Amino acid sequence: MAGENRGTPLERSPLPPAAKARLRGFWWLHRVWESFREATAELSAALGVPLCVEGCGLCCTSNVPAGFGIEVERAASWLLEQTPALRQQILDRIESWLTRPVLDLEHPMDPGQSIRRPLMGKQPAARLSPVEGLTVLRGRCPLLGDDLRCTIYEVRPLGCRAWGITNQPARWCKRPAGLGEDESHRAVFGGMGTARLRAEIRGMVEAVKGHPKLETTYLFPTALYARFREHRLVDLLPRIPAARLTGGKNVHLPRLFDEALEEPVHLPAEVSS
Ligand code: SF4
Ligand code: SF4
Repeated sequence: MAGENRGTPLERSPLPPAAKARLRGFWWLHRVWESFREATAELSAALGVPLCVEGCGLCCTSNVPAGFGIEVERAASWLLEQTPALRQQILDRIESWLTRPVLDLEHPMDPGQSIRRPLMGKQPAARLSPVEGLTVLRGRCPLLGDDLRCTIYEVRPLGCRAWGITNQPARWCKRPAGLGEDESHRAVFGGMGTARLRAEIRGMVEAVKGHPKLETTYLFPTALYARFREHRLVDLLPRIPAARLTGGKNVHLPRLFDEALEEPVHLPAEVSS
């Protein structure tokens, strides 16, 4: 019958639209991660320096990242695959950060300081995608372990992956200057790899369009915490500084997510077919 077999198996499946959007978003996010890895390797080879210094951790001790809701969902799904003890440890770390008094050095970055994603960095301001310029909060990220390693490294947000290739001045990033770079001029992605990356990020945003919980950007640790302990977050609200809820952005807290995520979400092969 005409039209009966249209679309991918995912689109034809009886899953609710939000679940389909989540799966599509995960699939695109994995592509973005892979392209990011390849483009980073290309740039590193061209510059002749590594794009991060092993054991530095400066970006994680001085910034709290923001991320798309779909990135939070992916991290939540990953966290469900970890042991209950590790999950609890990570959520407890976030909780103690949420309820600590704000330090002087901790404040939302002003727009001029926001991360300029290298992916979109050379476009005129009017054409910037929402991927550009996610604000972050100064201060130590609660997802950083005592050993200066990211506790969610595998699913860390795009902003964290991009730090070594942003135009951050050297005082905010300790990676060495490479070929043609100096203190105030840093190379960003370029070439075909970047074009692919941009297209894939747009694809990811498009894949979750119309699902505000997936396309909105959140302060990452807060949103991840809310994904598991929303009721507790409501109880804690009077003790949480406003900046740690929103990172300076107007997001819908504490009702972040409508449906509970109780099992990890695994990507079926047919998502891409
Ligand atoms: S999420 Fe991980 S990589 Fe990103 S700032 Fe926090 S500790 Fe660092
Ligand atoms: S500040 Fe730069 S060099 Fe240091 S960990 Fe972050 S990205 Fe790597």
